[in-house]
Amino acid sequence: MEYKHFSHQHTLTLYKVQQGQQLHCHGCHRLCHDSIFACWSCKFFLHEHCGNANRFVKHPSHKQHPLILMPNPTYCSSSFLCNGCGVAGSTFSYCCALCEVDLHVPCAYLPPKVKHQSHEHEICISYQTTQEKDSTPQLCKICTRELSSKHWSYLCDMAGCTFRVHTFCATAEVKLGLHQDDAPDQAQPPVLFYI
Ligand SMILES: [Zn+2]
Ligand SMILES: [Zn+2]
Ligand SMILES: [Zn+2]
Ligand SMILES: [Zn+2]
Ligand SMILES: [Zn+2]
Ligand SMILES: [Zn+2]
Repeated sequence: MEYKHFSHQHTLTLYKVQQGQQLHCHGCHRLCHDSIFACWSCKFFLHEHCGNANRFVKHPSHKQHPLILMPNPTYCSSSFLCNGCGVAGSTFSYCCALCEVDLHVPCAYLPPKVKHQSHEHEICISYQTTQEKDSTPQLCKICTRELSSKHWSYLCDMAGCTFRVHTFCATAEVKLGLHQDDAPDQAQPPVLFYI
């Protein structure tokens, strides 16, 4: 089976990553695992979730506008800062150009609740951010580095529990299909399709 992705000129094939193979996803730059879409002549690889990500998504962190999947950042710096995790990205982003909101694909599909081995309770994602300088910076309970109030975190909502961690410390899970497709009414070509 061959596939075509809007961000790449050649056809892609599905491939199962072997143990010890170090392939990086073009969409998010993270290491690939399980099944990926591959163009071997270009060494172009995509996680299944990055290749299958919708072109438009209605995201709970930015309800006012649809976020649009961009194959490259639209800024002159040719990189973006993810509003979710605060880490720079240089390829795929879910973008609201009006508000300069950008998200990595895996950050856009973080699960609402996760269970982490280091904590007894379930933790919930919080999109609450503030641009104000926090006088007493909080530390991530997993990596012990500072938690920026400008970015998302997972926190425990049990009364009296102050467990709060970075999104990337809490989970590497990607839940595709979590958010509503927010495509405009006119038909849009799919991001990925069989040929
Ligand atoms: Zn990826
Ligand atoms: Zn190629
Ligand atoms: Zn991110
Ligand atoms: Zn917006
Ligand atoms: Zn952390
Ligand atoms: Zn707790």
